Amino acid sequence: MEQKSVIKLSHCDKDIYCFFVPDQCPECGVSFSGKRLEEAPVSVPSPFSNGHKEPCAFLVTSSEDGALRDFDGGSDLHTGITDTNGVVYSYTERGVQREHAGWERCVCVPLVQPDMFSLMSQWDPYLEKFSSAQTWDPAWQSFNEESHNCYSYSLMFINCVLATQSKRALSKDEFTRSFVLPRIKRASKYITLCREISQNHFYIVDSLRRNSGEGPSEDEDSKNNRDPLFLTRPESR
Ligand SMILES: [Zn+2]
Repeated sequence: MEQKSVIKLSHCDKDIYCFFVPDQCPECGVSFSGKRLEEAPVSVPSPFSNGHKEPCAFLVTSSEDGALRDFDGGSDLHTGITDTNGVVYSYTERGVQREHAGWERCVCVPLVQPDMFSLMSQWDPYLEKFSSAQTWDPAWQSFNEESHNCYSYSLMFINCVLATQSKRALSKDEFTRSFVLPRIKRASKYITLCREISQNHFYIVDSLRRNSGEGPSEDEDSKNNRDPLFLTRPESR
């Protein structure tokens, strides 16, 4: 779907989202040409990234943008883990897939801080060994949409790595709530925003109501959990 980048400008106490700076304010009609806006337009960062360029990350992708809205860790979405070269490992009915393409538009949860050299150097062998285990062999244990799926594969791998770092495991709930859902919500808002702009040229929200949850503002969700999961400093909990 839309790959254009979204910009935000402010006028008339409104936040105006669009793909191009308009000639005039869509609210009051004042011409912008030759004038300076009170505030320079800012670009709204896309919540999507190319998974093949995100080493050591947890990825969520979807064949349809719409599925992101209904995200509940279920089967509408596909999740995977990248190795240090951006090859995506994901578990399917046919076993573990290793893909060099197809994950170009993902929600990405970075897992490793780039200066964690010892973990980075072991990441690929860990991932390969983990993926070769019998539990992911379709002849041994079959895929189950509820309990033995791409999400459990990805999370189990993360927990194996946490164990090597002497850290406690994350429950599915905890991982979803802290690391995945905030990003999915941001992606879902962004998709809605792009759709509105495509249809109406603008998406306009009252600046004062920004935090009431009606507008796709850059709320605290988008700032939370930008940090990789595996940090060099010890966990505070
Ligand atoms: Zn105006």
